[in-house]
Amino acid sequence: MDAEAHRDFTIFERGWLSSNNVLLHGADGEHATLIDSGYLSHAGQTDALVRSSLRPGQTLGRIVNTHLHSDHCGGNATLARSFGARIVIPPGDADAVEDWDEERLSYRLTQQRCERFAFDALLRPGETLAVGRRHWQAHAAPGHDPHSLILFDAAHGTLVSADALWENGFGVVFPELDGIDAFDQVAATLDLIESLPVRLVIPGHGAPFSDIAGSLQRARSRLARFRADPASHARHGIKALTKYHLLEVGSEPPADLRAWFASTPIVAQVWQRLERPEGSIDAWGQRLLAELAANGVVTLRDGRVHNP
Ligand SMILES: [Zn+2]
Repeated sequence: MDAEAHRDFTIFERGWLSSNNVLLHGADGEHATLIDSGYLSHAGQTDALVRSSLRPGQTLGRIVNTHLHSDHCGGNATLARSFGARIVIPPGDADAVEDWDEERLSYRLTQQRCERFAFDALLRPGETLAVGRRHWQAHAAPGHDPHSLILFDAAHGTLVSADALWENGFGVVFPELDGIDAFDQVAATLDLIESLPVRLVIPGHGAPFSDIAGSLQRARSRLARFRADPASHARHGIKALTKYHLLEVGSEPPADLRAWFASTPIVAQVWQRLERPEGSIDAWGQRLLAELAANGVVTLRDGRVHNP
């Protein structure tokens, strides 16, 4: 990234439990804007990162969410309290946020946590978020999440891709876990990204990257594998959620992980949809855990399941 980009924004690369955050600095005298706010249990850390990166005399005026998964908006409430920041969300989730409907917001299904927040404004596809000399156009990017936005600064070729495109793939296609076809939307969103003159992608997770063609190719071949075997995508989705759960709790005894499996509605839902593999959710969970361990995604030691 060039020095100009560093003047315009700061990227906090967070790992996986919290999404990345992009702090848009704005012009002198302008409040800063933060894109996405991480997971709830990291909210204090997010607050400190923002505080240490604001310019002297500047405050955080606004938080903009690409979408409302718990790892992208879990810091909203904390930051709104801390800085008086306004909250701007995509329009598709407005009703669910207004009613704080944890079912529609996915937090109940996944047993992930998000502190309730209220929004102040919407950012609709086609609208532009202007911060300093940067103009970020919002584009609808359904697939991973039906209401997700991506933000593109055409003058500089910079794309905030959320979970629609990562350097190696894209986020779990959540509607598919609900039995709603969304692989076509993933494909259309990848086509949209290809049609934009992108030079730098700031993904929702992982480091920024500039090999756009390579990432699109990897994403499309991943999508082709999922399309050919949707059950493999569903298993992948549950494994990814298991990994998130372990990132949140750190480590836990296998019995606790089995209890999480048994009590998490999306696990049961997918197990039903796959026609009850292994005959019970518990046995299926054991198999998925064994596969995660075999692939080195988790380790079992001292009687606990850990992130490696
Ligand atoms: Zn997401």
